[in-house]
Amino acid sequence: MGLEAKLNSDGFFTTKLDAIIAWSRKNSVWPMPMGISCCAIEMMAVGDPRYDIARFGSEVMRFTPRQSDLMIVAGTVTYKMSHVVRKIYDQMPEPKWVIAMGACTSTGGMYRSYSVVQGIDQFLPVDIYLAGCPPRPDNLLNALIKIQEKIGRSKAREFQDKPLPELTVLQNN
Ligand code: SF4
Repeated sequence: MGLEAKLNSDGFFTTKLDAIIAWSRKNSVWPMPMGISCCAIEMMAVGDPRYDIARFGSEVMRFTPRQSDLMIVAGTVTYKMSHVVRKIYDQMPEPKWVIAMGACTSTGGMYRSYSVVQGIDQFLPVDIYLAGCPPRPDNLLNALIKIQEKIGRSKAREFQDKPLPELTVLQNN
């Protein structure tokens, strides 16, 4: 189960505080669904019975950033929209993670346009990039598993006094 725990002869489990915090955190990741365009349809599909994101403890999609710890950015992000996405990200409490879902979000995709940001990592720290136009729902679940693995390796103290990332204000010239 990924939790370093030992059963002693008296029937008690012993473990490290870091391990139990990481285990709890990784099994209750609450996504902030930042659905902007067509990739969002595939993002919604992970909640249906076929893909069933509830198996991973992440069915609680929060539409308030203050209750979320995973932002899934799904769609084509314009410069105008990038300020909104960044503001919502800043309102999420630490620790938090970001998935860039799809070609548009990761690189601008087919939109080599003056209005489209060529990759959200220009204004957000991205943990996982998902290839595809759009990526399949099971690919998104795989990204969630990778995030869970990352959280499982983390130490609770890592997030204390973590400096906030510098706010980058993008301009489309
Ligand atoms: S990657 Fe494809 S499906 Fe996703 S937002 Fe861009 S055009 Fe739409």
